[in-house]
Amino acid sequence: MIEIKDVSKTFHQRTGGSFTAIDNASLTIRKGEFVSLLGPSGCGKSTLLNLVAGLEQAEQGTITVNGKPCNAPGSDRVVVFQEHALFPWLTVLDNVAFGLKQKGIGKKEREALAMEQIKAVHLSKFADRYPHELSGGMKQRAAIARALAMDPEILLMDEPFAALDEQTRLILHKELEEIWMRTRKTILFITHNIREAVILSDRVLVMSTRPGKIKKEFAVQAARPRDYADSVLHHVEA
Ligand code: ATP
Ligand code: MG
Repeated sequence: MIEIKDVSKTFHQRTGGSFTAIDNASLTIRKGEFVSLLGPSGCGKSTLLNLVAGLEQAEQGTITVNGKPCNAPGSDRVVVFQEHALFPWLTVLDNVAFGLKQKGIGKKEREALAMEQIKAVHLSKFADRYPHELSGGMKQRAAIARALAMDPEILLMDEPFAALDEQTRLILHKELEEIWMRTRKTILFITHNIREAVILSDRVLVMSTRPGKIKKEFAVQAARPRDYADSVLHHVEA
């Protein structure tokens, strides 16, 4: 469970100015829940995700995962970014196995574990390729495999499909849904695509133009019926 309690984050510029990106935000995400975060550019979505990831520090409030503070990155929370996520000098296999090496897992075992995840994202035939030899969709699949290889409790996804064409995005929706059904990871998913948020998530949060304020919340039917997306779109857009 992720608990964000009365969190504020102000960035202090070298020039002396400061900007409050998150202003007293509170939010609880249950274990196994798939939550999407929407909101206008600059409202603080990535900042909130980076705070949970431990990549940024809040100066006020607390963020905990299962009661433990998130003030440093941990292998229980892994981030998938929009792009530039893979090491260009490593093959898909070595990219996916990278974190396992850091964990001290031996070569044979980590390659077997990595191949399992590579297979799950349908990249088995491309395991020996370098990132520049992959399409955008394949790169994101590899990034997801690399995150899953760490077996984190929480996946933090910051616009993971934003750079993809519509068709590839739809395929990845299906794959991510399958992964979520199989693993029941807790997922915090940032997107600008309302339809994507509604289709994929249990809950859609909308952050307000006032930085860091969570304005609206929608519970999405657990069965994720596709038609439901259309029926709630006008509420979100209102
Ligand atoms: P987008 O949808 O465009 O990705 P966002 O909701 O993710 O936007 P954030 O990246 O969280 O927005 O940024 C929130 C605000 O905080 C912005 O005004 C941004 O300029 C500011 N900000 C973010 N990171 C920093 C930083 N490291 N230093 C200074 N200001 C920052
Ligand atoms: Mg962002």
